[in-house]
Amino acid sequence: MTLSNQLSDLRLFRQYAYVDGKWTHGTTGREEAVIDPATGETLGHIPVLEADQIRGAVDAADQAFAQWRALRADERCERLLAWYDLLQANREDLATIMTLEQGKPLPDARGEVEYGASFVRWFAEEGKRTFGDTIPSHIPNAALGTLKEPVGIAALITPWNFPLAMITRKAAAAMAAGCPVVVKPAHETPFSALALAELAERAGIPAGVFNVVLGDAPEVSKLLCDDERIKALSFTGSTRVGRLLLEQSANTVKRVSLELGGNAPFIVGPDMDPHEAALAAVAAKFQTAGQDCLAANRILVHESIHDAFVEHFAERMAAMTVGNGMQGEVDQGPLIHGQAVDKASAIVDDAVSRGATLVAGDQSQAPGPNFFMPTLLTGVTRDMQVWCEENFAPVAGITAYRDDDEAIAMANDTEYGLAAYVYTHDIRRIWKLLRALEYGMVSVNSVKMTGPPVPFGGVKQSGLGREGGVTGIDEYLETKYYCLGALGSVSGS
Ligand code: NAP
Repeated sequence: MTLSNQLSDLRLFRQYAYVDGKWTHGTTGREEAVIDPATGETLGHIPVLEADQIRGAVDAADQAFAQWRALRADERCERLLAWYDLLQANREDLATIMTLEQGKPLPDARGEVEYGASFVRWFAEEGKRTFGDTIPSHIPNAALGTLKEPVGIAALITPWNFPLAMITRKAAAAMAAGCPVVVKPAHETPFSALALAELAERAGIPAGVFNVVLGDAPEVSKLLCDDERIKALSFTGSTRVGRLLLEQSANTVKRVSLELGGNAPFIVGPDMDPHEAALAAVAAKFQTAGQDCLAANRILVHESIHDAFVEHFAERMAAMTVGNGMQGEVDQGPLIHGQAVDKASAIVDDAVSRGATLVAGDQSQAPGPNFFMPTLLTGVTRDMQVWCEENFAPVAGITAYRDDDEAIAMANDTEYGLAAYVYTHDIRRIWKLLRALEYGMVSVNSVKMTGPPVPFGGVKQSGLGREGGVTGIDEYLETKYYCLGALGSVSGS
């Protein structure tokens, strides 16, 4: 299935980079193929930009900065709202592009377009509320206060699992603050980013404010980190690459925000109905085929309901359909590529070799080479990869615990600290877990936890900073303190 014959608006499918308001070829003719993970077919090609072209994108952003920051906040808001409207109007095409390049089922892709667009609307409005402070003065005859100013050009490096929302959650905040952006999307899913660029142009976002560069990731990232004109770096991706970028940004002392990996615990209390809890756990585990930083990686169930929970979990899993996300009712699409399938197999083999029980997950049923059937392991222990690594696959690991203290110790036994789920109706247990869990986000009795109004982000090795909410725009703002002295008399320092 090719991309171009699936879209109602062909101009949303661009096989170029987007720099300074122009669609750009590579200068050497080097290209990279983009593959549909469900079929293995080539969807199209993208250019590999040279170093000069990456610097050219920063030049363009630099040139655009003065004009963009000079617009009134309500004028930037209008452009961003026009972009939001276009995202909504083109939702079906954007979802189709996403499913074809990323693999997630079409309804999930539509949901991501909606989710991604919602950040544009949120930050369009938040840009009008970047208030400074008035400070009661301790200096005689002076007026003190703060102004909020755009930090400067922001480089945004994003992953393939949410190819649209991970860009808008950053770009809309930066642009609303008055910062131009240079986006480097994942090489597996560039077409969503390029469709965003096409719609930004139609929305009247000036040339140079929203740029999309493509190329060799370590080379492009190094160039962006080394460039003094880039003042903020926002990255979503693996903890491994996040650490590298943090180190590379040190020389130019950039503002760095990192949204990194997770290893979410899903704790089920003894008071829960095992059926209700199992349905929620399946939803929290298998969204985006488990390739989700919020995926419930370690499911911790009180020993009194463990067996019943496992039974219901396996039953719900068995009802899931796995297939090409473009075709009909599919619960789970392919993994992003063959290496992801190999990694999932290795995690399962490791767990079984260390004593876990494989309850479900017959890979002979997989409908293609990039598919991995939903898999359930019980008796998972802390020496297994499935416990200590972010498995990023449709592999669920369940463990029984004795009491709340043991559940807390198990849940915190990881370098990650992004999100945790708690299922219980006991208010004392809720408070105890909420306070004790070392996570940036804790969701109680709800699988859905994200959205524009909330501060999204992790602690420990899961990242730095928060996206969304009323603080998300702060990642792109400087606080300038002013002292207006000599109001009536000349004063000293
Ligand atoms: P990744 O391998 O870290 O890649 C993310 C981005 O970094 C891509 O644009 C990639 O470019 C680039 N990159 C890769 N290697 C690089 C290097 N050596 N130097 C500089 N840049 C490099 O992560 P991924 O596999 O795409 O995404 C999965 C990870 O993202 C998971 O750990 C997941 O938990 C995390 N994630 C976190 C959140 C959150 O909000 N906390 C949300 C979504 C995903 P190329 O694609 O061109 O190689």
